[in-house]
Amino acid sequence: MRLIVQKLGGTSVANTERLKNVADIVTKTAQAGNQVVVVVSAQGDTTDDLIVKAAELNDRPSKREMDVLLNTGEMISMSLLAMAIQKLGFPVVSLTGWQIGLETNSNYSDARIKRIAGERLKAELDNGRIVIVAGFQGINQMGDVTTLGRGGSDTTAVALAAFLHADLCRIYTDVDGVYDRDPRLHPDAVKYGRISYDDMLLLARGGARVLHDRCVELARREHVVLEVCSAFSDAPGTIVG
Ligand code: ASP
Ligand code: MG
Repeated sequence: MRLIVQKLGGTSVANTERLKNVADIVTKTAQAGNQVVVVVSAQGDTTDDLIVKAAELNDRPSKREMDVLLNTGEMISMSLLAMAIQKLGFPVVSLTGWQIGLETNSNYSDARIKRIAGERLKAELDNGRIVIVAGFQGINQMGDVTTLGRGGSDTTAVALAAFLHADLCRIYTDVDGVYDRDPRLHPDAVKYGRISYDDMLLLARGGARVLHDRCVELARREHVVLEVCSAFSDAPGTIVG
């Protein structure tokens, strides 16, 4: 049996219709005989909206409280997606970063992953459930929730793929692969069928908004094969690695 980690970004889970679409993608993958771990981001502009709300009350809130606040965005996505999948009749459970024991340092708002305990995650997979994990979240030594920095759900997905020795980590984004230039601005941009970690890292650091650069570094170090593709088309994506 293959184990696939699927990461769905904020655009892919932005509303009810899109959540249903994602539920289809996930359940089809499970139906094909794969174990599936799904990592979700907060819906649409949720994270930005929460940052604005905080600023209305305090222009210098503590990073700890900001992380408590921002942790809520991914929890909305994970529970809604689990409900959409339940509706399709599949066994599923949603888990937060702390429930899966994703331990980080205490650098609130930009925490680094130290280790993943992961017993609960493994037990749920062994029970035959699809597991939905809230991306971007961790827990520190004090038991406080942390976040992995903006765009950090990609890193959660790659870290879980490495931890579980997944066969593939598929990152669904709003473009259907990695292009030599931003295809939203350059209609003649060319899509890569495959790209090396090093080239992807150059693109990520150069501001291509497809993948979080820390996620690419982690994938390279842990030999996690990534596929960047779109939740809105069946076009083959770009393999990174
Ligand atoms: N929701 C977080 C953010 O907007 C994490 C992510 O999307 O990966 O940065
Ligand atoms: Mg986001």
